[in-house]
Amino acid sequence: MPVRPPLTLDSPVTALPGVGPDRASQLERLGIHFVSQLLLHRPRRYEDRKNLCKVRDLEKGMTTVVQGTIVACGLKTWSHKTKSVYEFILDDGSGRLHCRWWNLPFMEKYFKTGDSLLVYGKVLNLKPATIDHPETEFAENLDDAAIHLGRIVPIYPLTEGLGQRWLRALIFRTLASCKELVQEEFPQIVNPPSRASALELLHSPTTLDDPEKARQKLSFDEFVSLQFRIQARRKKLEEKAQALPCQGDNRLIKIFLQQLPYKLTDGQKTVLKEIRADLGGKVPMRRLLQGDVGSGKTVVAACASLMTIESGFNVAIMAPTEILAEQHFRNFHQWFNPLHVSVELRTSSRKVSTLFDQGQLRVTIGTHALLEDNVNLQNLGLVIIDEQHKFGVVQRDRFLGKGNYPHLMVMTATPIPRTLGLTLYGDLDVSRMEGMPGGRTPIRTFIRPAAKAIKVWEFVKEQVKKGRQAYVVYPRIEEDPRGLKSVKKETDLLRTRLAPYRVEALHGRMESFEKEAVMKEFGNGSINILVATSIIEVGVDISNATVMVIEDANLFGLAQLHQLRGRIGRGSEESYCIVLTRDGAAESTEKLKVFEKTLDGFQLAEEDMKLRGVGNLVGSDQSGLPDFKFGDFNKDGLLIEKARLLVRENLNLK
Ligand code: ADP
Ligand code: MG
Repeated sequence: MPVRPPLTLDSPVTALPGVGPDRASQLERLGIHFVSQLLLHRPRRYEDRKNLCKVRDLEKGMTTVVQGTIVACGLKTWSHKTKSVYEFILDDGSGRLHCRWWNLPFMEKYFKTGDSLLVYGKVLNLKPATIDHPETEFAENLDDAAIHLGRIVPIYPLTEGLGQRWLRALIFRTLASCKELVQEEFPQIVNPPSRASALELLHSPTTLDDPEKARQKLSFDEFVSLQFRIQARRKKLEEKAQALPCQGDNRLIKIFLQQLPYKLTDGQKTVLKEIRADLGGKVPMRRLLQGDVGSGKTVVAACASLMTIESGFNVAIMAPTEILAEQHFRNFHQWFNPLHVSVELRTSSRKVSTLFDQGQLRVTIGTHALLEDNVNLQNLGLVIIDEQHKFGVVQRDRFLGKGNYPHLMVMTATPIPRTLGLTLYGDLDVSRMEGMPGGRTPIRTFIRPAAKAIKVWEFVKEQVKKGRQAYVVYPRIEEDPRGLKSVKKETDLLRTRLAPYRVEALHGRMESFEKEAVMKEFGNGSINILVATSIIEVGVDISNATVMVIEDANLFGLAQLHQLRGRIGRGSEESYCIVLTRDGAAESTEKLKVFEKTLDGFQLAEEDMKLRGVGNLVGSDQSGLPDFKFGDFNKDGLLIEKARLLVRENLNLK
């Protein structure tokens, strides 16, 4: 016999007794390569086999485990063997339980009279007691009885060829022999129970509450690990970077605010105070500005830019779409021209600048094109990223890399739940801009079935007649094999339906100059109705547009719907968002109901996370979020805050 090397947690699973190449490749399919991963294989549920239910005590509708012996079994087929039911009868001394499998005739091969079994499932009927399609486990082989019976037993996710009992025994024995090797991942952060006890609670709980205790510990460790990664960035910044003094002296902002046709809201003022303090601080600003759609973030960005320019530095602003970059360019140009501050636009299709002779201090506005190597941004004091959720951390870093530790402000209207914010943006300081500019009337949202479409279009015409404008949104550009409505086809139909008003299309496959022309004409009111994809989802600001119709809305997520709706309700006129539905799938109906009754973006984000999970919310490829095995953003708010706090303390971050 060859001598086995001593087992460690980093050993491959093949180092374990009974695990050869075949077993190893099965385990691999479950993502288990090393002993440490085996110990973290999370049971999907538990069965209390200390207190097995007797057949005599079964109640209709309960989900439970019964142990007994098969006393009869057989397969019935009909309709030329296309339909079948396999059934066995289990006797546990107190009564008989019928277990049935519909249209799975091969089940017959697995069982025979005399087999001793555990079955788990929901009691369908009582006379006779019946469970359809139960999970089953053989109860023979008394060697292992202590592992599989008489305790709270974990049920693990499996893969083809891998049996429940085999895997359970493997994990049980491995934990018993490796428990001493399990150490705290972060000994500097104390949070009982120990990891070793957590694994014990996970795989061998003594009460049904134990697994949750285990989950919380293991989840906490996951969040701590992530926070160390995030906060290390912050730490490096604080140690290395010397902030450029960019707080300004008010000389431009003063004039700017005087010429602005409105007064800043309290929310805008508060945020600007925080920004000014950051721009004059020792560490470069790293700030996230969260403010709901339409709360007026652009003008805040303009003020921050002016502070920087007053201090003698340049500003760069990146937006996710050309339409939005163009819009910012128009606004900034109009605002800064009287101040003799140059503004330039750089997208892949257009470069425009309005340079003044007396100086080259400027604001550069653009899209991703700004990230290209040949774009040289000099003397950069502040970078601003609008609609941050459309960019990833990598892009953020590249943008920052255009300067020498410039200040950073990222803006987002995608309201994200607080727990997620602390994680995704854990290295940023967060300003939440409260309140909306005054004089707005809340948007009214309606869900209407396709059958009511005619009325909806009549309504749109009425509004246009009153001088308003409308958006109509479809999920697709071209016709789609699934029959989803598309911008191209519907534009033609709507031209007839909404005549004599002018209807034009806008989508991502148009040339930049075409998009720009359409936006310009919609902006000055010569287009009445804009038919678009979700390309208009971010940033577009046209206050005379007060109607939005969204078709096939089930295809959009809640956050996206909210962003779309944010395009209207920007002026003093009453605005209407109408969702035309056709399919009645429960999940999407629930989603749309939430949308109909909730105008608050943050509340919607919480609901969205519950309905769809985190991955969908942030687009996990961009977020840099790891796959949590135990962590759960819906439940773990307190754990996340605690992990962040303790890690920051540990790194001496204030
Ligand atoms: P978002 O936060 O979604 O980027 P915008 O910056 O596009 O919002 O602003 C939405 C609209 O509100 C714009 O038309 C802007 O001119 C207007 N606005 C911004 N601040 C104020 C304010 N203090 N008072 C009145 N209107 C404002
Ligand atoms: Mg905006």
